[in-house]
Amino acid sequence: MTSAELAPLDADGPSKGLDQISLLSSDERLKGRPRLCSDCGFCDSSLKLLMSQTCTFVRNQTSEIEQRLHGRTRQDGDEGRFGIFRAMHAARMARPNPKAQWTGMVTALGARLLELGRVEAVITTGAAPGTRFKAQPLLARTPAEVLATAGNKPCLSPSLGLIDAVREQGIKRLAVIGTGCQVHQLRVAEAELGLERLDVIGIPCSDNVTYPDLEYFLTQVSRSPHTVVHHEFMQDFRLWMRHEDGHVERLNYIDFPMDKLHGIFPSSCLSCFDYPNTLSDLTIGYMGASLGWQWVMVRTQAGEELFDLLRPDLEMGELSEGGDRTRGMPRFMERLSHPPGQKRPPLPIRKLVAFLQRSRGPKGLEFARAVVEMKLLRNLNYVRSKFPRFESRVVPAHVYATLAPYAELYAQTFGRPLVPTPEERGPL
Ligand SMILES: Cc1cc2nc3c(=O)[nH]c(=O)nc-3n(C[C@H](O)[C@H](O)[C@H](O)COP(=O)(O)OP(=O)(O)OC[C@H]3O[C@@H](n4cnc5c(N)ncnc54)[C@H](O)[C@@H]3O)c2cc1C
Repeated sequence: MTSAELAPLDADGPSKGLDQISLLSSDERLKGRPRLCSDCGFCDSSLKLLMSQTCTFVRNQTSEIEQRLHGRTRQDGDEGRFGIFRAMHAARMARPNPKAQWTGMVTALGARLLELGRVEAVITTGAAPGTRFKAQPLLARTPAEVLATAGNKPCLSPSLGLIDAVREQGIKRLAVIGTGCQVHQLRVAEAELGLERLDVIGIPCSDNVTYPDLEYFLTQVSRSPHTVVHHEFMQDFRLWMRHEDGHVERLNYIDFPMDKLHGIFPSSCLSCFDYPNTLSDLTIGYMGASLGWQWVMVRTQAGEELFDLLRPDLEMGELSEGGDRTRGMPRFMERLSHPPGQKRPPLPIRKLVAFLQRSRGPKGLEFARAVVEMKLLRNLNYVRSKFPRFESRVVPAHVYATLAPYAELYAQTFGRPLVPTPEERGPL
């Protein structure tokens, strides 16, 4: 599809402000949703009456689900940041799929599960007709259908709306490819689905946006937003945007026009504490691996089986790490203490910061630790400032444990303790 065949992008501005309470609250379909909503699709299904018990933005049940899946909760260290895992790998498809987001491990695995008959269907996310990036959930029944959904649709996808189709079609063995908020819903509602097997392939996810806001975002970060065919927030602190003609445009994170982007991220994504999709059977992302490789966390027995099914197609690499993530935290906290949406620093400072980030910043697993910790901290502060009464329900205990090494700095910067006092926490 070329840019000429696509609808024009909307450059008018974000569809909502951060101060507005509910994502897309003007949308008729979303009336009655909780104040934090990532439009995961669950409420489009006949199970919607269960939402108050299943939704991560009503009550985060990570510890209970982990107890059920693993017979324990997280240990200190990397499990706090990345969730419970039994193995971690750097890997890539030996024959990468050129249409994939990275090398195509996720869709190759979904397709393999159907080929082998391990599952009867896969919930995956394709693109709506006439668009490149508008998410359209699909209940794929053939390997070819899964493979056709390769590549990110980097906007909220109401994938769990397909639960009714799963039930109507009598599907008993299902795989779901989804984000953390979707997986939380699924895990809590698992018993209601009447399935004999549920395989959960997780992708990391952070700062997702609605489709109109994705279009707006591209107009703000690219010189040619209409011709972007692929983009990714890379481990070298730059956004890479590939265009129709194959050239890659790169923008330093520090050069993002934050004053223009303020307001595009939904309240739910800013209140999310599951960037690495910790309740999946296995998570396949990239941010803990070196450029060109994918990062895999195998979490459960089922996850081990899934990884083994994909292994013959994989080239295995080495995970590595470098730098010290804790060095950037004081500056990050200082920036967080200012009102959001500030103008960028002057160009020479931005150039210096970009250079330092690339040359001395955290790398490999340390990069993944850095970004997870920063998002935990930013989102904790977001909940505290916008939805303080929700803190005891939506902020899981591992957030405080993981950020504990920064507790003193936190108290100095924000004038309150990291861990809420019993009075602040209120009734559970
Ligand atoms: C909004 C978003 C943010 C992400 N942020 C990070 C990150 O910060 N760090 C990181 O390591 N990884 C992140 N990922 C995951 C990463 O970009 C790749 O999707 C993942 O590594 C799989 O690559 P692949 O080549 O194996 O996937 P492919 O084989 O190309 O398959 C992509 C799969 O992603 C699914 N998908 C696409 N869009 C969506 C969507 N909107 N919602 C649900 N599922 C979708 C499709 O169903 C498809 O199965 C993010 C993904 C999304 C959608």
